[in-house]
Amino acid sequence: MELTERQTTAHEIHRLQESLWTTAFSEWQSGVLPTPECLAKARQSLPASLPEEGTGFQSIQKHILNDIVPAFNGGSISPNYYGFVTGGATPAALFADHVVSTYDQNVQVHIPSHSIVTDVEFNALGLLADLLRLERTIWQNGTFTTGGTASNILGLALGREFVLKAAAERKGVSISSVGESGLFETIQAAGLTGVQVLTTLPHSSLGKAAGVLGIGRANVRAIPRDKNCLLFDYDQLEKELAQADKATIVAVSCGEVNTGQFATRGSEELRRLRALCDRYGAWMHVDGAFGIFGRVLDDSAEFAAIRQGCEGIELADSIAGDGHKLLNVPYDCGFFLCRHPEIASNVFQNANAAYLTSSSAQDHGPSIPSPLNIGLENSRRFRALPAYASLLSYGKHGYRNMLQRQIRLARLVAGWLFHHPDYVALPEAPSEEELVQQVYMVVLFRAKDQTLNRDLAGKINATSKMFVSGTVWDGQPACRIAISNWRVDEKRDFEIIKSVLEDVAGL
Ligand SMILES: *Cc1c(COP(=O)(O)O)cnc(C)c1O
Repeated sequence: MELTERQTTAHEIHRLQESLWTTAFSEWQSGVLPTPECLAKARQSLPASLPEEGTGFQSIQKHILNDIVPAFNGGSISPNYYGFVTGGATPAALFADHVVSTYDQNVQVHIPSHSIVTDVEFNALGLLADLLRLERTIWQNGTFTTGGTASNILGLALGREFVLKAAAERKGVSISSVGESGLFETIQAAGLTGVQVLTTLPHSSLGKAAGVLGIGRANVRAIPRDKNCLLFDYDQLEKELAQADKATIVAVSCGEVNTGQFATRGSEELRRLRALCDRYGAWMHVDGAFGIFGRVLDDSAEFAAIRQGCEGIELADSIAGDGHKLLNVPYDCGFFLCRHPEIASNVFQNANAAYLTSSSAQDHGPSIPSPLNIGLENSRRFRALPAYASLLSYGKHGYRNMLQRQIRLARLVAGWLFHHPDYVALPEAPSEEELVQQVYMVVLFRAKDQTLNRDLAGKINATSKMFVSGTVWDGQPACRIAISNWRVDEKRDFEIIKSVLEDVAGL
């Protein structure tokens, strides 16, 4: 079969990618952090100003490959980089990402006769819904974002729109939308003093979202059962919801970033939350950046606690998720899913720009909204293609298998730490069994010796054999191992982690 010019280009991309990737892949074995020398060399190589004459393509290629790349870390390339929750990039996603850059399609207005990109994005949202066991007919609304933070901004923005409009209507004031009328005008018309976000152990980006949206970081308030607790205090929650002068968004931490654990334990709790939100006109948003992927697991007893933690999430109004974490596609990719197809355009529509409206003349299947009217950007990259590629390449089983390997490694490590004389696995549990069954793909721990513990993360990371995040738990320093790379290998990686932690404890 003869290849078209476009196919030839795509094959060429693949060949180039393979060679770059082979180099990159061999690099992670040399360390998860760049050496101080490489960092210094890279910094020195940065130009002080823009030259009058450009140095040319070959010279810049050399500069990037010889100076800048060696000063990267193994965040995505190395399976032993356990900082933050970085994920990796699967081969299918990486290939698609190169195609995206090469063809540089603008995903903006849905014009079915001009490009397939909006159809692919819509389809990819459907595939994601399938993976996460969310009913397509209800959940195939939303968009691809730059990440979890942007998805949380969308969730709170739609929540704000919904709760304030409803509050104004209860007062007998009819407004077309908050996006149109303005936040302050609507709050005044509704006789409210503000919007509050009620949650437990929220990710820092939720406060950022509240700040950006004029809700205010101070109005993101935790309603925990006990101090440091992820579970809601339902009596207190109802009291707060009942405050007549506030409109409320309830945000569920589906996968808390420090412990990897969940704010809810099963459908019954979600039904309770749903009933409370309905009674008081609140919006229910779920921050499921990495936690929502627990829904890919099967029903085996091994993963019961994780499945429970993300059960019932389909009762929410909106869900924020990350592509560049457990979906293992390159930065920047997140997704936002919503049960209400009509609200996003009230927030994000472009005012008076007739040239941006899609041609609705032809009917090409499902009605697909123009991305620029339901998300933050107008022009943006074809962000969904890597997710589309990776989802189809792995399928439900591939993603389930990947997550199982991540969880099993995390549990091996947690169980080993539980019995270790020098370490404490957190949150402290009465038995190994009780500890391990709650472990998702995050292991939180600290050293018993306070001096060692003070700089434990620094000492571990100085080995450059693995990387962990330093964090704080219950007022004291702690370390966190987040396993999120598709290359995870339980046996190999458990040996690496054990040997590094043994060495560090013996220092
Ligand atoms: C990572 C994370 C976010 C933010 O996502 P980004 O992709 O870094 O913007 C939000 N919520 C949770 C729970 C996260 O783990």
